[in-house]
Amino acid sequence: MAIYEPTIGLEIHAELKTHTKMFCCSKNDADATEPNVNICPVCMAHPGTLPVINGEAVRQVLRVGLALGAELADYTEFDRKNYFYPDLPKGYQLSQFEFPLVSGGELAGVQITRIHLEEDTASSMHQEGVGTTIDYNRAGVPLMELVTEPVIKSAEQAGAFARELQLLLKYLGASNANMEKGEMRVEANVSVSKDGSRAQAYVELKNINSFNAMERAVKYEIQRQIDELESGGLIVKETRGWDDGKQATFSQRIKEGSADYRFFPDPDLPSLKLSEVPEFSKESLNATMPELPWERRERYLAIGIKADDAQLYVQESALGSFFEDVIALMKSDSAGILLASNYIANDLVKIVRDIEKRDTGYQSKITISAENFKKIIEMVAGKRISSRAAKDLLIESMRSGKDPDVLAEERGLFSFTGADIGTIVDDVLTKNTSVVEDFKAGKGAALEFLLGQCMKALKGAGNPEKLRELLKEKIAS
Ligand code: MN
Repeated sequence: MAIYEPTIGLEIHAELKTHTKMFCCSKNDADATEPNVNICPVCMAHPGTLPVINGEAVRQVLRVGLALGAELADYTEFDRKNYFYPDLPKGYQLSQFEFPLVSGGELAGVQITRIHLEEDTASSMHQEGVGTTIDYNRAGVPLMELVTEPVIKSAEQAGAFARELQLLLKYLGASNANMEKGEMRVEANVSVSKDGSRAQAYVELKNINSFNAMERAVKYEIQRQIDELESGGLIVKETRGWDDGKQATFSQRIKEGSADYRFFPDPDLPSLKLSEVPEFSKESLNATMPELPWERRERYLAIGIKADDAQLYVQESALGSFFEDVIALMKSDSAGILLASNYIANDLVKIVRDIEKRDTGYQSKITISAENFKKIIEMVAGKRISSRAAKDLLIESMRSGKDPDVLAEERGLFSFTGADIGTIVDDVLTKNTSVVEDFKAGKGAALEFLLGQCMKALKGAGNPEKLRELLKEKIAS
């Protein structure tokens, strides 16, 4: 059986988070509940209207490019991509053809071909008995399109790339990039060959609405193409959809070439000379650049956080910012930070997930302050409470909002010590026989000395009252 190697490229569209649409002043609102409320004569393509470029959308795409180490264009223009569909009122989509805003760059080890800016189409809904209705709220929303080189070698790698891009877009505030809401749409082009090169006839996969669906669709398509070739068949260059119910791809249409779109520069829009716009300079773009997901991940790994836990903080903003608060509080106590991380990534997450199960809000609910959490961590670190007690204390503080010091006192948790107290007391007594004699002879201060020795052995974790009693008991017996 011949060995086939898959070659995968991705095309990812993301709706940009701007106040207004790409070429008009209509509101860009993905959460609009009423259809056709965020529209105007420009995005409805009334005759005589003229588009105006949304500078914020341009700026966001440039920031993405800068984060990816890509080349930012100096000259750019918008082109008409001509095709007819009811969701496209103008009869063409304003997009970029020859002069994309961004070229090159790399993400998660995958080379990027280009990123360009365009406008979204309206959304059409097909309802049984009603027919097709169209909502133009989405028509004209700024859309960035990122195209990778066909260099991806597995469904998992494709998934990893798309997930990392989603994180980046969220970190930059460029897009909410929610796949279920269609704010981020992933298409994969797939081919297989025996020498690992890109085959002429590759297949484009569409209708993918989650990362998992994308990985399954790519895997399915790789196998389908191998089976086809092995049974003497041919692969047709086509667009195939992913049927989530059947867990299979199906042929949609034979892929059109770019010539079919008759691209030409839009005569209604000016070309842009980006170096002439101060807010598009690298300096001003860099001024608003946050710490990027991979930078943050590296920072965590460098202080010894486990890879899975680092990823958890990078990915989940509530947990991530809680961990940041804890770091800020514990500053140079690196052992404490690592211990804190263990309690966050194991125990705190479990509690939070439980709350999420009961109350399905979007945000993870961390109902303990970083200060109170730090108190618990210091109690375990100082061996003043057991790790079992720390877990209970965490749950109880999260539930009641009470100060862990008060809770631990109320429940007598401080009486714990990790070591066997009896053994330590015995040890202190045998090592200090003369002091024991002094105490027996009535020297009260001798007991305090013995207590001090016990506390030292227990690294300060003992309960002085109980230790005094124990010492007296043992000396008397
Ligand atoms: Mn596009």
